[in-house]
Amino acid sequence: MPTDSFGRQVNYLRISLTDNCNLRCVYCMPLTGLVGLRNKQLLTPSEIERFARAAARTGFDKIRFTGGEPTLREDILEIVERVGRIEGISDLSMTTNGIRLPGLAAPLREAGLRRFNIHIDSLHKNRISKIMRFASVDAIWNGIEAAVAAGFEPIKLNCVVVRDYNDADVLDLARLTLDRNWHVRFVELMPFGDGECAELSRTQLVTSAETRQQIEYDLGPLTELSNSNLSDESRNYQAAGAIGVIGFISPVSEPYCGTCNRMRLTADGKLHLCLLHDDEIDIREAIRAGRDDEIETALVSAVHHKPIGHDLSGGVHTQLRVMVQIGG
Ligand code: SAM
Ligand code: SF4
Repeated sequence: MPTDSFGRQVNYLRISLTDNCNLRCVYCMPLTGLVGLRNKQLLTPSEIERFARAAARTGFDKIRFTGGEPTLREDILEIVERVGRIEGISDLSMTTNGIRLPGLAAPLREAGLRRFNIHIDSLHKNRISKIMRFASVDAIWNGIEAAVAAGFEPIKLNCVVVRDYNDADVLDLARLTLDRNWHVRFVELMPFGDGECAELSRTQLVTSAETRQQIEYDLGPLTELSNSNLSDESRNYQAAGAIGVIGFISPVSEPYCGTCNRMRLTADGKLHLCLLHDDEIDIREAIRAGRDDEIETALVSAVHHKPIGHDLSGGVHTQLRVMVQIGG
């Protein structure tokens, strides 16, 4: 397994399939000003397979597809199928806003996908469009139900908490765990780029401690669950009598860099060494030209040079990309 210079074993790849999205969440994708990638800049299914095979040979065994919105790729089933049959990849998952799952959840499962994280910031029909612009609760909920019907479990829901946008809605989401075996995870808002997304996180951050306090005020004390997977960024809890799990992901107030096991590939073929730094290694041409040795060497080097630590509370963060251009 590739190990970085700080002794972290890095075995988890997040592959962004597109920098495009059918939503425009306020903290992720500005309404204007972003120049999207052209189709020919995106890696093809066979190029993604080539990269994933090289990664598996290097020791990576977990892959998550992300974006932008990965389900917007017309060739998504082919991509999942190609990567799903690679020996050595034991865990294949996807982060999505769920909107296209009613038509895709079952075929994705058949193609080899094993887990979904579905992003929903509010169950309030009017407030959701303030934060996940262009989203509706019904559209995402239909996607969640399609994932359940296709046999995906456990269902994990992600909610980014933003003051004055959806902080009043965390309780409704947390209550879903009372009678459903789901994981509902609350994520602290991170700054990206140098525009409105970064500005928002400077002023509207809600810490996990505050979110937890708000939930406990109604559901009573949460019991902390022991974490079998140390590199899981979520600290997990359960409400009394609940069957599901409430998680808190706290990159700002409690950074988990020490156990980070992730490497990212952007949709335009760059290894992005840390979510919150700008360091990248461009390997698109090596992938395109089929230079497998070079891809493997770049992966080992990327892991070796993986930075540790960030200073989000001091406002230092990745400047060159917003989240939709990296993948969560
Ligand atoms: N479109 C998919 C989705 O929304 O899940 C996948 C890509 S999205 C970039 C991945 C995750 O990043 C989402 O779950 C979203 O909650 C999270 N995210 C985006 N911008 C963020 C920010 N500024 N701070 C914290 N999380 C963010
Ligand atoms: Fe799209 Fe996901 Fe970003 Fe929202 S968080 S704009 S759904 S990529």
